[in-house]
Amino acid sequence: MRTAPADIKGFAYRTVMRVTELPTVAREWRPDLNLLVRVASSTDMEALTQLGKAGVSNLALLTAEPSLYEKSEFPSVLELVEPLNEGDVAEVTPGRTGVHVLFRESDVHHTVFLTNRCNSRCLMCSQPPTRQDDSWLADEAIRVAMHMRISPKTVGFTGGEPLILGGKLREVIDAFATSHPDTKVDLLTNGRLLADPLLAHDLLSDMRHPITWLVPLYGHADFLHDFVVQAPGAFDQTIGGLLTLHSHGQRIQLRIVLVEPVLRYLPELCEFICRNLPFVSEVALMGCEPIGFALANRDTCEVDIFEWGEELEVSVKRLVRGGLFPVLMNLPLCTIQPELWRYAHQSISDWKRTFVAECDSCVVKNNCSGLFAWHEKGWRPATIKAIREG
Ligand code: SF4
Repeated sequence: MRTAPADIKGFAYRTVMRVTELPTVAREWRPDLNLLVRVASSTDMEALTQLGKAGVSNLALLTAEPSLYEKSEFPSVLELVEPLNEGDVAEVTPGRTGVHVLFRESDVHHTVFLTNRCNSRCLMCSQPPTRQDDSWLADEAIRVAMHMRISPKTVGFTGGEPLILGGKLREVIDAFATSHPDTKVDLLTNGRLLADPLLAHDLLSDMRHPITWLVPLYGHADFLHDFVVQAPGAFDQTIGGLLTLHSHGQRIQLRIVLVEPVLRYLPELCEFICRNLPFVSEVALMGCEPIGFALANRDTCEVDIFEWGEELEVSVKRLVRGGLFPVLMNLPLCTIQPELWRYAHQSISDWKRTFVAECDSCVVKNNCSGLFAWHEKGWRPATIKAIREG
């Protein structure tokens, strides 16, 4: 999540707002929306004040001018350094020195964070879970859906484990379905709680909105999957959840993060998937994000993917032979065999992605996932070497 440095005053509570320009307030205003209106001059300030006096409610001031901020009687945000964009959905919290950007129209990848709680403790978890009740995040997600001006092609729901929200998750999905019927949802979940028939019924009955369930599977047997997710019984529950999703006609992408214990048995796992889970739409093989628990478990998570080229190739070929669609994610092209490039995706979110100096002379840079920005802190998953010929 991006944070734009800012001074904040006059807000009583955490508020979701849409950034807008003064000339468009009349067109965009609705009583259930909060508008953060950009003002650059005292003339504009006067116009905003007139709108307030005329009864236009839920307006706040956004400015880069300290004098306007000081004099303002509206709840106000003073932009420092990095300006917010028109159409941004931002969260403003009293007492904070920054504004969280929850949605930006120009981004390629859009993610809605639903909870930080989780019932697993994966070795490479990029978002280490906490136990505190954060169910307000689901309400905030509903407000984000209302405040989004455009309907992007896809929105990703993530956590934590979103299924912990139970029926509230259905409310979030329905809010997006109502405000953005053409937006597909990618929902990242470990699938374990879907083994519970009651929760599955509450969540999935009459579900018509297009969702792809992104479900991690780390082993062909319980000893491996349960070890990677650090939760006894998880393998059986996840398989149960996958069967439930299939019985409700849901689209599934399996997600396999390529850490050392998983790579050791990757061909067996792909064989297991082909034989037992042939209904899944895609199988994503993903480079590990060097953040969170992965940094604490470097011995198992920091792998040179180039050294596992044979296992990767065998596994991809097995999936293809089984009629399944492999997707390679977070893997720089120079770290995998050219025969596998056709399966590689530019999967790293814009704001997380970086390239190194070596990439400047690389002819495939435009098609490459690049590296996670955090790799600059010392994580070297593989030797990066520019490709000279296409
Ligand atoms: S050198 Fe850089 S741009 Fe080229 S394939 Fe490797 S990571 Fe990608």
